[in-house]
Amino acid sequence: MLYIVIMKKLVLLMLSLIFMPASLASGANIVYPKTSNPTITAPTTFFIGNESPNKKLYINGEQVKIHKSGGFLHPVDLNIGENVFTISNNKSTLTYKITRPEPKNHNTKFSPITYKSPVIYITNADLSPLRATPYSSGTNRLQSLQKDIPLKIVGEYADFYKVQLARDDYAWIGKSRVKKAPLQYLQPAKLLAKTFEETSTEYIYTYKLDRKVPFTFNPITIYETNKTLDFFNEKIKNYNLILYYVKDFPENKFDIDIDVNTKPFGYSIAYSDNNELIIKIKKASQIDKNQPLKGLKIMLDAGHGGYETGTVGCLGDKEKDINFAMALKLKEKLQKAGAIVIMTRVNDSALGLTERVLSAQKNNVDIFLSIHNNALPDSAARSERIGASTYYYNLHSHELAEKIQERLVNELKMNDDKVRRESFAVIRNTQTVAVLIEVGYLIKPEDNIKLIDSKFQHKAAQAILHGLENYLNEL
Ligand SMILES: [Zn+2]
Repeated sequence: MLYIVIMKKLVLLMLSLIFMPASLASGANIVYPKTSNPTITAPTTFFIGNESPNKKLYINGEQVKIHKSGGFLHPVDLNIGENVFTISNNKSTLTYKITRPEPKNHNTKFSPITYKSPVIYITNADLSPLRATPYSSGTNRLQSLQKDIPLKIVGEYADFYKVQLARDDYAWIGKSRVKKAPLQYLQPAKLLAKTFEETSTEYIYTYKLDRKVPFTFNPITIYETNKTLDFFNEKIKNYNLILYYVKDFPENKFDIDIDVNTKPFGYSIAYSDNNELIIKIKKASQIDKNQPLKGLKIMLDAGHGGYETGTVGCLGDKEKDINFAMALKLKEKLQKAGAIVIMTRVNDSALGLTERVLSAQKNNVDIFLSIHNNALPDSAARSERIGASTYYYNLHSHELAEKIQERLVNELKMNDDKVRRESFAVIRNTQTVAVLIEVGYLIKPEDNIKLIDSKFQHKAAQAILHGLENYLNEL
């Protein structure tokens, strides 16, 4: 309706006043880089913005391809030092001076150090990652440990300590994650009791020790043979738990496989205050074939919010607003289908990643969906990536990611930017089936124009809903 259009224009005008992108006399706006003299460390970057599609725009003499929507993304190369870019539309010019600093000297070569005798350290905070390699890469995490877990340190490399877990089992932990323990020597712990309990929603395994020890807990998989799945799927057969530094087991290593008789919907593993390691494996919900979403508790997480805008699209729209608009549309559809929907944020407020995760844990939700729209870093300015992508971290979330991705590509005709495993905090720590959806690339004009369209947002919500229903119906 017209007044809505006028309102939208007013709002856009107000937003653009707050934003104040650099503009040319004829109306061209540059939304990225955000300032006219930024420092960018990558060898490439891009000019992202908008101009009337019937105008001509040049950056250092090269004509910019303007999409019919008015949006453009123009990649450029950067030399070390100052790079001057003149942006001109024949009426006026803008000058950008982008500094690319000399690459940092990596002369400080690290070599691994082995200690003469081991030292005992303890973790100094919850969620301290124990890693397979001495780097902070997303997916080399072996286990997140709680506070006060003792570790036998036998060496170091760069910012990491080398942890000996058993005779031939080593891991790494960031130096900032531990402190020296008052202990000189680590007495092996005693495993005092094991218990198992099954409720209607969970399998609960408890291991009572006389003190906390490090552990790893991982799914063991087999390849799914179900013919209806059109992707290469690993099925969780059971979980493997290893408790280290435990007396009376070979190498002081208590190693056990934990069976799950249904498709797990996630798990939690943590020590209680009295040294009980409690593992709760969530059973898949009972699904009513006619109404698969009925009674299911779903958390919708609209990415970013408040001062944290997320990406800004070439037409000037902010990711946080588009994410929120899509989440609201999805909420309505999910509720109509009988689901109980909880939003991580219900308005335009800033919310930390940990708060989102804790909210999912506290509400014990069945499914967690985080809605985002994508961008690229400067270094990928020339990347052809475009379209929809869906991310999972824990294996129990892989299948949902595939089902949603399949619907986004087929129903929205989005380019398939693939399902990927990524270590994003909101899908790593939520203890349930959790995926993060990037519906499209807000910085790409071809996607941007779709993403801001309310009808498209409805269709995107619909596609996610269908993906979710397909997933549930195959449980
Ligand atoms: Zn985002």
